[in-house]
Amino acid sequence: MVTTPFNPRTVIPDQKYRIAVRNRLGMPLCERDDKCRVVQRDRGRWDADPRRPVGKHPCGKMLLPHADHAQGCARQEIYDRHDGVTDLCAAIIMEDGHISDTETEVPGVPSSTKKEPIRADVLVRERAPGTWTAAEIKVRHSFKGTGELAFTDAAQTDEMLRALEAEVHAHYRPVHVRPWIMTSLGRPGEEMCTDLRRLARLRLRRPDVANAVSVQSVQQLLLHRWRAELSCALVLGDAQIYLAALEGECHQGGRGGPPPADVHVYELQGNRLMT
Ligand SMILES: [Zn+2]
Repeated sequence: MVTTPFNPRTVIPDQKYRIAVRNRLGMPLCERDDKCRVVQRDRGRWDADPRRPVGKHPCGKMLLPHADHAQGCARQEIYDRHDGVTDLCAAIIMEDGHISDTETEVPGVPSSTKKEPIRADVLVRERAPGTWTAAEIKVRHSFKGTGELAFTDAAQTDEMLRALEAEVHAHYRPVHVRPWIMTSLGRPGEEMCTDLRRLARLRLRRPDVANAVSVQSVQQLLLHRWRAELSCALVLGDAQIYLAALEGECHQGGRGGPPPADVHVYELQGNRLMT
């Protein structure tokens, strides 16, 4: 949440950012008498006449201030959250040079019904001399419906994450799986951290990274920052024009311009500050 939104993956729209901040600070998200607006399909209509539209209505349950009822109610959004992490996991693995597919059958591991193989969130064919592995994503919301934390300390949360990791290994045996398990607040399990470190180490060995530390890259960084600063200046200036029209504030800006950026340029070889 403190990441600079420097690419599409790091941009959080305002409304979602506000909710995330309130959540992180433990502030209420809604009023006590607000009702849940998650759209639900009418039960018992699955076998009904297919020509009749399926009835949809909002859930309507009373929400408590932290709205954690949604964590059990908004099924589609919960799947989407999971799939978002899954897609990113697959993308990171691919960036590392492996082949990865999402939602794919794991060869040789039958499900409990023995009818078909289990499905992996991410199935990975590693670079030679690697083999088939899998990654399993689980996001757990460890709150009670009342909005209170289900676990009072971090050790209990970690214990829950470890238990889930063990479950995942048992499910995939004999195929090697890497469980990416995290809480909805972003606390990752130990195995996920280990895997990220492993992938990062492998990524650093790729030729593009080995060749990246150069004057060229410093130049790219500089251009990147300048473009960002220019964009911000443009947005700020534009906003000030609206503000002037809406609120009559026209005393800022003018020819004074923005304050100079606090920039230090280091000489690459000796790590000395250049003047
Ligand atoms: Zn609901």
